[in-house]
This record gives sequence, C-alpha cells and structure tokens, in this order.
Amino acid sequence: MDPLIATLSDYWGYSSFLPHQESVVRELLSNKDVFLLKATGGGKSLCYQLPPVHTKTLGIVISPLISLMKDQVDDLNQKGIRAATLNSQIPSSEQRQIKKDLQDGKIRLLYISPERFATESFVKFVKSLSPSLIAIDEAHCISKWGHDFRPEYRKLHTIKKMFPDVPVIALTATATKEVQKDIVDQLKLKNPRIHIGSFDRPNLRYEIRDAGDVNDQILEYLDSHPEDSGIIYCFSQKNTEELATFLRLNSDNAHYALPYHAGLKDEIRKTTQEKFIRDEVRIVCATVAFGMGIDKPDIRFVIHANLPKDIESYYQEIGRAGRDGLPSDCILFYNRGDKGKLMHFIKKDHFSAERKKIRISKLLAMSDYCESPICRRKVLLGYFGEDFEQVPCTSCDNCLYPKQKIDGTELTTAILTGVMNMPFAVGKRKVALMLRGSSSKDITSLHPERNPAYGKCSSYSEQQLMKWIGELIQLGYLQVLDDGYSVLMISEKGRYLLESTGDQSVTFSMPSATEEPVRRIKGSRFADVDYHAGLLRELKALRKDIAREQGTAPYIIFHDDSLVEMASVLPTTREELLEVRGVGQAKCERYGDAFLGMIRPYAVARPAPFTGSSGGAKSSTWYETQTVPEPACFPMRSERMPESVPELQVEPVVEVVPESEPGTVFLILKNDIMPKIHEQALRTDLSDRERSRLLDLLYVLKKTGSAKNWDEMGRFLSDLGVEELAVQCQLHAGEEERAEQ
Ligand SMILES: [Zn+2]
Repeated sequence: MDPLIATLSDYWGYSSFLPHQESVVRELLSNKDVFLLKATGGGKSLCYQLPPVHTKTLGIVISPLISLMKDQVDDLNQKGIRAATLNSQIPSSEQRQIKKDLQDGKIRLLYISPERFATESFVKFVKSLSPSLIAIDEAHCISKWGHDFRPEYRKLHTIKKMFPDVPVIALTATATKEVQKDIVDQLKLKNPRIHIGSFDRPNLRYEIRDAGDVNDQILEYLDSHPEDSGIIYCFSQKNTEELATFLRLNSDNAHYALPYHAGLKDEIRKTTQEKFIRDEVRIVCATVAFGMGIDKPDIRFVIHANLPKDIESYYQEIGRAGRDGLPSDCILFYNRGDKGKLMHFIKKDHFSAERKKIRISKLLAMSDYCESPICRRKVLLGYFGEDFEQVPCTSCDNCLYPKQKIDGTELTTAILTGVMNMPFAVGKRKVALMLRGSSSKDITSLHPERNPAYGKCSSYSEQQLMKWIGELIQLGYLQVLDDGYSVLMISEKGRYLLESTGDQSVTFSMPSATEEPVRRIKGSRFADVDYHAGLLRELKALRKDIAREQGTAPYIIFHDDSLVEMASVLPTTREELLEVRGVGQAKCERYGDAFLGMIRPYAVARPAPFTGSSGGAKSSTWYETQTVPEPACFPMRSERMPESVPELQVEPVVEVVPESEPGTVFLILKNDIMPKIHEQALRTDLSDRERSRLLDLLYVLKKTGSAKNWDEMGRFLSDLGVEELAVQCQLHAGEEERAEQ
C-alpha cells in the first residue's frame, strides 16, 4: 500500500483521496507553496493536516475563528492526532503545558490566530519548533477584494520572509479570480502550485443504468465505441477476470480486455498498466486497485459494473475519465443487490459501531444518487458542498432523458394481491413469473393458477415487473424479509392500499432508455440502423421470457432484425406492427399486444426522431452473428459456492482456496461429480434450495471445463427445469456441430 494512503486510512479511515488532495499533499511534502480553492466540504483541511501526521512533524494552521479552531482540534484529537490551539481563552497553566508538548514534539498541528502569529516573540518560538508547513485557512480574508476582509490578516504579508524555507499553503472556498490573484500576491508565495477545484467536470457525461444483462450492455457500449479506451470497475477480483474473458470471447477479440486486481503478480499488474497507458490494450477490467497514479489523459469511459461503496470513491474513479477535457462517459450499472452485498460486508467487518454507521450512511448516499431522478451533476456536486445551478445540465441521463412517470395504481394492486395470495413467501422473480401468467416449472409448487393475480400483468417483461416490485419495496408497500432469502411480504401500507376504495394512487418511473435513446452504431454489424437501444433491450427481455415459457429459442419468437426494426420505427398499432419485417398475422395475434405494450411508451415519449434509415435492419449479415447463443461462459455465483449441501449427497469440493477479496473462492472439484449431479437432478422431490445448489454446481462445471459437451449440459439443465439455459446449451451444441462440418 502507498504509505500516504496508509496514513490516510489509519487516521481518516479513507481508502482514497478526493480530487486535488493527493497532489497538494505531495507538493507540500516536497516543500512547494500551494494555493488551493476548493468547495466547502471538499476536504481542504486534510491537505495540510496529513503531511505533518505522515512525517511526524509540526504543522502551523492560521485560522480566523476560535470556534473553527476548536472544532478542528477536537476533530483531530478524535482521530488520534494530537492537535492544540493557543488563544486568549485558554488558561495560562494549560498554555504552558501545550508549549512544553510542542517543544517535546508531541503535537502535530497547532492552530493559532493571525494576531498572535504576528508577535515577534511568538514567531521566534515557532521557529524554534521547526514547523514542516504553515497553512493559512480562509485565505480570502487577506484580500480587501474579498467578501470577508480582516485587517489582522494583513500581518501575514511577511510570512515568507520570516519562514523562507517552510512551505505555505493558502486555502479558501470562496474567491473570485481577482481575490485569488490578490491572495497569492499578498502572501508572496514562491511559484505556488495553484489548485482551483470546482467539483464540476463539464466534459463528463453521467449515466446510471439498470444492471440487468450488464455484460451484454457493456458489450453493446463497446461495440458502439470501438476506438475508445476505458476502465471497467468490477466488484471482485473474479468479476474482473470473468468480464474480461466474456468481452474477449464475445467480440472475436475486438474488445480485448485485461483484468487488473491485487491478486495478480506485480509484474503482470505493471505490464497491464503499461499496456493500457501505451494504448496496446484499450480496456481494463479492474478492481479499485487500479487507477492510482494513472495519468492517462484520454480515458474515454469509466464504467462501473457494480455499485461503488461511496460517492468519494466513485467520484475519484470517474475522475480518471477525460482528463484531456474531451467528452467522456461515466456509466454506472446499478443493482440493488450490490447495495445489499456491500451492506453485508460493512456489517460483518471489524470496525467500530461508529465507523460502520458512517460507512452505511455513505453507502446509502451512493445508492440514493443512483436512484435519484434529479440532475446527476447537481446531486454529485451537492454532496461535495458545491451548489450546481445550471440545471438541466446537458450531459447527464436525468437531464437529457427525464424519467417518465406512469400511473401504476392498477399494477400495484395486481402485484400486492399476488404477493398476498402466495401460499408461502417467495422472492421477486417468482412473483413476477406468476404475474406474467408463466407456466415455468420454477413456480409449479406455488400453484400459480389459483392466485387471483395470475397472468394479470402478462404484457410486461419479467425484468420490468421485478423493477416495479423493487420500486414498491422502496415506496414501502412491500417488505423484504431479511432471512437471507429476500422473500417478499406485504406491508401495513400495502394492506391499506388494497383495502382503500380507490382514493390512493401510485406512480412508477417508466422504463427509460437511460443511454442515448437513439443510437447509430458505427463500424459494427448494426451499421446504419437508428434505434432505441433501451427499448431493444426490453424487447429482447420480453422475447426471452416468452421463449422460456414455451421452452423454445428466442429467435423462434422473433428474429433480432424484427426487434431492431420495432425499436426503430416504433409501431403503436397492430397494423403498423404487421409492417415490420418478420411479423406475420399469427405472431401478431399471439405476441402483438405484449410487444406493442412495451413500445408504446417510447413512441409517446419521443415521437419518431429517426432519420428513416431503418431499412438497414434488413441487411442480413448481422443476423447470423446475433443468433449465436450469447454466453460462452455463464456467470458464476461464487458467493454461494463454498457451502456444501449434505442432503444432496454430492460433495463436489475437494479444496476451497480463499482469495483476498471477500466472497470469492477458488474451487477444486472432484472428477465423478457429473454423474452424481445427474442422479440428483432426476429426483422429483428437489427443494428450491437444492435446485439452486445444483445450478451453481453446473455453472462451476461449465467454468472449469468439466462438462465436456453442451448437449450433456443442456440435458441436465432441462432436467433441472432451467429451460432458458438448456435452450442456450442446445443451440450452442448445434453451433459446434455446424462448425465441425
Ligand atoms: Zn444533469
């Protein structure tokens, strides 16, 4: 660990610096004068507090207000940093003790007023202490151009004369350009390093996306930015490797990505970093270990595949994008599950209750940011104490595509009724399946057809319903039982809504295309097609749901080109839908309403902004590539792997090697696992838990290459009732066969 970060972490409990902090600290440590303008709450004081703590020396802080000094001294002492103030309010006996402690080198920071600093005897005393820096807080007070001029600050004019070899840092949060210059001139700073820090980065485009199909979404983004260089931050070491592999495999190496994390050997990490800086590798899938000291100016995107733990980290990580000032993207894939996972880690770590509370509140601020419908810029800068007034900004998803609200009262009633009439409590997905009227084996034990809400929401996709169920949890109509299985319960508020006589209403946010709603993808198989990328995703999800229920492949329902055309021309009636290539009478009858239901809000929200090049969708070349079953590797649900389930009589794990990242394991498996799993899979009395364990095992087998052929995998998955994956395996088997011929 970087020694500065170690000090930061030991005393402040942060794992990373805020913007400007690190460079200011380093400049002071190398004896440079500094001028720092930074918004209130932006961590200015840390810049001068850390160096003396780090070097075990003394820093002098000149501050105009006694109350301010006292707060800072208390705050530092709380952190285990010895600090003191000398002012007229302190009894002389105590002052004597402080002076003695100063001489004994026990104090790291001494806060004093400008008046006292100006007296000759005091200057002499301070000189005898050999301070390592002098900080002038609220430095705008020295300028008569400032809004808060204080005559006593004038006495600081001679500070560089008195202490020519001690670095001086002048800090302020409020200074016009005129005042800035005045401060530097008045204090006679020597070649000062100037830091003017608004937190706004106008060239960064902020966007939060729903994390459904995150890998596919990232792939799609990369397809449309084939030249750009960027970082994709992942939650764990394993995630970085899996994602890098996924991107390589699914792009014919076009998106050649390398993983980077603390578990890799030093040389490998060094090489990866160098390759990235030299543009030999465009994409790095990394944990937060990546980025410190990377000064690559042309990072065009920073993607967070998972939720960061707090806004400070997030801001620092996205801060690596677009240092050259050119437009760059910051995309975060938000998933409430990540929040739960991070919460879990906070709760089980060894920090004090106080620290935990702080970390939890920081995490909540992070997730609030993701869920907020307000300008991202405003929320982000507001967090750092900066007021951002130019709303709407021109480059955040919320300003560019404000979320549409729809009346969700009827839907809410259906969902609540569904939850209430379940024979036992289940999670979101099963509720969604039941509401869609699914006949999936996953819910047979629930006797869904007996539920009055069965099939009441068949025109929405499973994903969409799950999202709305999530909103109902947030709005307090549903509760999640914290038993480790996240099952749903109806709340008091929910009951009240069901019993009320229609005088209550609920609004939902529309499924919005959070990225550019109109996409023209250059240089890819989608050349010349304009379409709503978000809608296309929704349509694909719906198609997947239908296919799963029918035990068939998605392309049997509609080909990709039909969906692209739908997302492009936005048909709103059956007649218009029939115009779409690949939509005949029968399919229109069977699926028309469901697909139209999904398209209509987009057509209403943004009336046909297209350039009419949908004809490109008819090009036949890309269809071939698109129907290849997507996952060449299945995601691995590693957090559930280490435990074995004795009742399954399958003991797959020979050895568990813990990695440094929490929640990930490396498994070595027994050879005879496959027949054993098959045997178990054929059991008719499998519980949900056993079924999900078997699934996990299959993921691992696929991962480790123990499952030799796709046909076999497909059979097993089919036996397990996991039709979706089974179909994918069968398709893959077909692909392989064709390839061999
Ligand atoms: Zn905005």
